[in-house]
Amino acid sequence: MAQIVILGGGESGVGAALLAQAQGHQVFLSDQGELKAAYQSELSQHQIPFESGQHTLERILQADEIIISPGIPEKSAIVQAIKQQGISLVSEIEYAARYTNAKIIAITGSNGKTTTTLLTYHLLKEAGYNVGLAGNIGQSFAKQVLEKSFDWYVLEISSFQLDRCFHFAPDIAVLVNITPDHLDRYEYKFENYIHSKFRIFQNAQASTNCIYWGDDEVIQQYQSLIPAKTQKQEIRFAPGKGSATITEKEIIFEAGKIQRASAPIQGPHNAMNMSAAILAATAAGVTWADVTKHLPTFQNAPHRLEPCGEWNGVHFINDSKATNVDAVYYALNSFNKPIILIIGGVDKGNEYAVLDTLVKDKVKGMICLGTDNTKLEKHFGQTLERFAQTDQLETAISQAMEWANEGDIIMLSPACASFDLFKNYEDRGDQFKATVKKLTHGK
Ligand code: ADP
Repeated sequence: MAQIVILGGGESGVGAALLAQAQGHQVFLSDQGELKAAYQSELSQHQIPFESGQHTLERILQADEIIISPGIPEKSAIVQAIKQQGISLVSEIEYAARYTNAKIIAITGSNGKTTTTLLTYHLLKEAGYNVGLAGNIGQSFAKQVLEKSFDWYVLEISSFQLDRCFHFAPDIAVLVNITPDHLDRYEYKFENYIHSKFRIFQNAQASTNCIYWGDDEVIQQYQSLIPAKTQKQEIRFAPGKGSATITEKEIIFEAGKIQRASAPIQGPHNAMNMSAAILAATAAGVTWADVTKHLPTFQNAPHRLEPCGEWNGVHFINDSKATNVDAVYYALNSFNKPIILIIGGVDKGNEYAVLDTLVKDKVKGMICLGTDNTKLEKHFGQTLERFAQTDQLETAISQAMEWANEGDIIMLSPACASFDLFKNYEDRGDQFKATVKKLTHGK
């Protein structure tokens, strides 16, 4: 019996605690914040001791192994103390993967993880696979490993989870793209973040399918980090070069073509996500007939370029999940109409210059929504004719409506995290949709 400590009592931590206990270990869970009531009662029900609101260092350092929540930064005092003691520190993904024989499709990237993961899952599920969905999404992987007996898992994996993966070896590994994100957690070094993302391939074998966007400059530059003897499948925009080739009108695979215009998700970024998901699904054995049959019924999760209202010919788009600059880049690229952009929140070390050309071409007005808009104001304040800032969502939308004419788009695509004014990106998107409804109702 080993002593296992779980740091962080969210969905993944509680799942890991249950799994570790079921393996016959002595488990203790510690969370510096407040544990949700539902998780507290779940732990109590299983007689798993826990603490909430503090980390008792002496007890934590007695562990043989520690499973850490992706939300706890490397530079925190607790991680530093653990590292000094040399205690094994792993993610819930690394831990739970030890206890399942299911085949695993693992998907990472700076943007597009959720969309690609959901679509891959949809294609397998509809094709009749006994498949689970986990990782950064839905119910904890560990808990499902404990309670279910899936043959396949589709896992959405973040860089923080990968940082604490060592032997995790998915059968199909997908890297959608890499652009700067979360640099505050990587000593503001893009290089560190890149290495973190490439850990998705670190244990790839000759039989492992490694799927990635071959045109991505960063992926090209670091390609040697993918073990040489693997099944590489590239997504390319250059004709004839990839296992999936994206042209203006279609996506071409070995088995057939998908017409982009009739696809369930639109825009160049979603063409990449579809390519990745279809390559992953076919690598898992899903037939082309099943792919084409079930692709049209896919519905993406909310808050991703989600249409959420129309008023006097003005369309509202909720892209609250756009929490970095690259996502906003693709959002702006997805429309050929004048856009009034609502942007801002908690800046994660953003470089706004990549948006300059698109903003110049497409953005008719910009409203910064956050408690501190200084950086955005400094970058865009002088160049845009219509520029405003506020810390009130309703004021932001009203201002956008004042500027809008028929045919324009009002889009929330923040490029930032949401924690200054909202609970999370879902809350931000939900409030946006509700306020749009309120302000446009009856007008
Ligand atoms: P993630 O889970 O990686 O955050 P999502 O699928 O939830 O990815 O999408 C997050 C945001 O990024 C959304 O605003 C979406 O429109 C945008 N996006 C989705 N796929 C891509 C992609 N392949 N490249 C760039 N941006 C993307």
